[in-house]
Amino acid sequence: MTVTASTADEQRPRELGVAVLGLGNVGAEVVRIITENADDLRARIGASLVIRGIAVRDTSRDRGVPAELLTDDPASLVVRDDVDIVIEVVGGIEPPRTLIRAALDNGKSVVTANKALLADYTGELADAAAKARADLYFEAAVAGAIPVVRPLMQSLAGDTVERVAGIVNGTTNFILSAMAETGADYGATLAEAGRLGYAEADPTADVEGYDAAAKAAILASIAFHSRVTAADVYREGITKITSADLASAAKFDCTIKLLSICERIRDADGTERISARVYPALIPLSHPLATVSGAYNAVVVEAANAGRLMFYGQGAGGAPTASAVMGDVVMAARNKVYSGRGPLESTYASLPVAPIAQVPTRYYVAMKVVDRPGVLEGVAGEFAKHDVSIAAVRQEGDDEETRLVVITHRAPDGALATTVAALEKMEAVTAVTSVLRMEGTDE
Ligand code: NAP
Repeated sequence: MTVTASTADEQRPRELGVAVLGLGNVGAEVVRIITENADDLRARIGASLVIRGIAVRDTSRDRGVPAELLTDDPASLVVRDDVDIVIEVVGGIEPPRTLIRAALDNGKSVVTANKALLADYTGELADAAAKARADLYFEAAVAGAIPVVRPLMQSLAGDTVERVAGIVNGTTNFILSAMAETGADYGATLAEAGRLGYAEADPTADVEGYDAAAKAAILASIAFHSRVTAADVYREGITKITSADLASAAKFDCTIKLLSICERIRDADGTERISARVYPALIPLSHPLATVSGAYNAVVVEAANAGRLMFYGQGAGGAPTASAVMGDVVMAARNKVYSGRGPLESTYASLPVAPIAQVPTRYYVAMKVVDRPGVLEGVAGEFAKHDVSIAAVRQEGDDEETRLVVITHRAPDGALATTVAALEKMEAVTAVTSVLRMEGTDE
């Protein structure tokens, strides 16, 4: 039978059922947007979005939504026949993993903001989505409101991404920016961030780099068409950064940022591998990421043909994150209306992940040394002995104990580690106080 355009139009759904899991910071804003923007959303989608239910833990609290929509039984909600799209904004691994699997297995499309889950289970969930011919979208999982997942998966689908480097954690960026501005120490600045609502009561996931590593895993997977999990990402947090480090970074015309870096690296024989790493690094003040301050996020993408692209904006917060969620909801809804499907993860390249020891970077090494002639030569000699070439040296302070700061050219992690071990044994070196990487320079 030939279906004419008008018959096909008549057969399209007039409304789509939505299940919202979670009514916290993000969920409440998602429900607000669906309610307030109903007419515009209907025009953009071609069908109305109708909320069938909202899952929370505590249904007794008044939350400003119709009480009959609230349920503490998300497992039943996600498989209801009248639900087409499930929005997961609960967070954590379980129950979201089981709920999303159940939704996908029942042909529902899923939109999630859950980076912790995706960092480890994208493969499992994408396989379930592919089997059910359903959509799985997760723009909000990386850098909140900033569109970076869709540009990587769709806009740059015809290009070769070489590098994705960004500031994707607002809490640590707030702390490092404030330390640079005020000269205050890490502990005092973390406490202030907590008071202002930029750091959670338990800030571990942010300050130890776990959140940034989960996002790096997602970015590396989609940028390089491979499967990278959080465990593959080398990770260092910001807890050891001192105000002295920021002050000496400034003297080298640099600042310190917690960077998530995903890079395509090529061995001498042309073999390609991925490097995915998160650490605080010195970057020149002239680098585009150096000006990203406070709780803002930014991601710089370098592609073979497009060149350098920069995405900047609010990386967290209820409304900004809900904006990204709703972009995905509209895409998933349109696909339901027109019986289509968006792109899923593509892992055809299956590039291996290179261990950090094989990724050469520049280093900043700060040490306390005794103030006497010949010390600088001795320190420089140790770097030379281990084939680590020095780019700049600065001596700070004129007390009995002097601070010596060395910036190196690119060196392998292993060579730097042996140099630091040798420095620590030197009688003239009282302590090696900081070893940080330096990024964003060509040397
Ligand atoms: P949140 O404020 O803690 O809200 C979580 C919601 O999930 C609450 O409504 C909670 O119910 C509900 N919930 C928890 N466990 C549940 C369960 N077992 N069954 C049913 N409902 C349950 O979290 P959020 O800040 O909105 O974050 C949600 C997700 O978005 C997370 O994956 C997070 O990583 C991601 N995200 C958040 C932001 C942000 O700025 N907040 C940014 C990017 C991504 P009750 O209200 O009854 O406790």
